[in-house]
Amino acid sequence: MPGVPSGRRGDPLVDTFGRVHRDLRISLTDRCSLRCTYCMPAEGMAWLAGPSILSADEIVRVARVCAQDGITTFRLTGGEPLLRPDLVDLVARLSALRGPSGDPVQVAMTTNGIRLGAVLDDLVAAGLHRLNISLDTLRPDRFHALTRRDRLDDVLEGIAAAAASPLRPLKLNAVAMRGVNDDELVDLVEFAVAHGAQMRFIEQMPLDAGHTWDRGRMVTRDEMLAALGERWTLTPLPGRGGAPAETFLLDGGPDRVGVIAAVTAPFCGACDRLRLTADGQLRSCLFATSELDLRAVLRGEAGADGRDDEGTDDGIDAVLRRCVHGKLPGHGINDPGFLQPARGMNAIGG
Ligand code: SAM
Ligand code: SF4
Repeated sequence: MPGVPSGRRGDPLVDTFGRVHRDLRISLTDRCSLRCTYCMPAEGMAWLAGPSILSADEIVRVARVCAQDGITTFRLTGGEPLLRPDLVDLVARLSALRGPSGDPVQVAMTTNGIRLGAVLDDLVAAGLHRLNISLDTLRPDRFHALTRRDRLDDVLEGIAAAAASPLRPLKLNAVAMRGVNDDELVDLVEFAVAHGAQMRFIEQMPLDAGHTWDRGRMVTRDEMLAALGERWTLTPLPGRGGAPAETFLLDGGPDRVGVIAAVTAPFCGACDRLRLTADGQLRSCLFATSELDLRAVLRGEAGADGRDDEGTDDGIDAVLRRCVHGKLPGHGINDPGFLQPARGMNAIGG
């Protein structure tokens, strides 16, 4: 990538296409209580080595520099973020961060909901602002086949706890899959509405650790809208900004549904997201095939970059700017030469 990264500490993170970065997705672990077919293989996962996983101190340190550089939202993900023992402490420390003008940041989490009820009050007290919970099916047999675990009741318990919490908007996410759950779209929306939540359907992306993605099995945005349109009149809501989901009012509102069409209607032109993997690699895109080693910089490991500011906040800032500077205009899923990233979704952080 020609040229040099722009700005210095405290300046916004702007890429070469003018996109200002406001959102950091932080993966807390690559481990998970489920084995969703579109994300992980049934067996044989090579887990990240324990010592490579960033500590809470390291994550907060990166996030503090990010907040000063204009990142306003931190979304905790994984793997399954609820498996992280220091989660409540981490949420408290992240939600206490302030932007360059002293504005508070927002802390959100994407989870499968298992054991959510046991910690939700503590997470809310610690300052968690928003929750997305994944729910692909309401049928126990399908849930078992899809996640290779018999835990639908635990997920539904987690959703009930979230529905009873003050966290709003509450969003439920499903990956729509042909012949798997594509006959449940209406049921899932009705379930979400009954729980005061918004259902969002995601096009399946080539990010499974087993590399089994098949474009033909993907349910497209247009197919989802056609199925939903049989039941409701869908009115598109303007003002999407950098959000991945297109949002539609159901029969004029106030209830809504979202569609995330990353494959057939990419939203890269407004992308404001960066990603930090659990082992401290910084990525400019879900589909990036290269990463920058922030962990080495954080730990002051000699030779990480040959710079004299390694181990310092200036060194972290420099890596953030290099990552943003190298960001491509789009993910390229639809290009003939597209290569699926080596990491699966569970190890990137969705
Ligand atoms: N374990 C948590 C969960 O499932 O919500 C957080 C991590 S998960 C990787 C984050 C989101 O990515 C989930 O909503 C999941 O459905 C979605 N996801 C995983 N693999 C995907 C794929 N291949 N295509 C589209 N979405 C995917
Ligand atoms: Fe686990 Fe989430 Fe991946 Fe499913 S999508 S296997 S719940 S990380």
